[in-house]
Amino acid sequence: MSNENQTIHEFDLNIIHDYFRNTERQGPGSPEITLKALSFIDGLTPKSKIADIGCGTGGQTMVLAENSASEIIGVDLSPDFLRQFNQNIQNHNLQGRVKGVIGDMKNLPFQEEELDLIWSEGAIYNIGFERGLNEWRKFLKKGGYIAVTENTWFTEERPTEIEDFWHEAYPEIDTISNKVAQMEKAGYLPIATFVVPESCWTYYYEVQHPQMQESLLEKYKGNKSAEDFIAYQRYEAELFNKYKAYYGYVFYIGKRIK
Ligand code: SAH
Repeated sequence: MSNENQTIHEFDLNIIHDYFRNTERQGPGSPEITLKALSFIDGLTPKSKIADIGCGTGGQTMVLAENSASEIIGVDLSPDFLRQFNQNIQNHNLQGRVKGVIGDMKNLPFQEEELDLIWSEGAIYNIGFERGLNEWRKFLKKGGYIAVTENTWFTEERPTEIEDFWHEAYPEIDTISNKVAQMEKAGYLPIATFVVPESCWTYYYEVQHPQMQESLLEKYKGNKSAEDFIAYQRYEAELFNKYKAYYGYVFYIGKRIK
């Protein structure tokens, strides 16, 4: 990667970090749904090791930590989010058992069969659902679990406007039954799927309020990529309000059997 590209990449992350600064979550989720997903995972002990991939500032990681006794490693590409993650660990007094590391989900810093559970809320799309399930499986012990949220079609047919938007933004979006088939094909036993409630999305878009967007537009005045990012977030929220009957996040929980 050239230096120029690196700078652009870091700059993009800076905007995203600025945008989600001080938010507890950087994707649609809630403590309740994290707990619900956790209720499907058997056999965690104080010796178990959990990885939270694309952990962001760690909203869901703290819920996992406070409701299990296992060691947890949060992995994220953004040093800024990890700084907030580490502050979060201190505030919850979890520094003995939880740590955050900078890492790329496309090249995870784990040994084969090291992990008992892989968690990833609102982040696997960065590698792609199918690739993530396939590439991450080797890090799980046999019988270990994976729990991820993924954008999913709720219906077989969709209005063109929303179909086109998601095919451009995330072509891997698909129906629950197709996602479950991908999970089986990747060597997992599907344990549970459930739809993330609409309230999680409402909250996610509420924290992206107009005053924050306006003050960032002021700060990044003339910066095309920042302006585009904010316009895109606004458009995505608008489309969600219009078409939420057709898609949303689904939690997929699987168990490594191959
Ligand atoms: N899990 C958190 C954050 C979701 S936002 C929550 O639900 O609130 C997606 C996160 O994935 C961001 O923190 C982003 O920095 C991270 N991310 C994006 N690409 C990544 C990559 N290649 N490797 C690791 N983390 C990545």
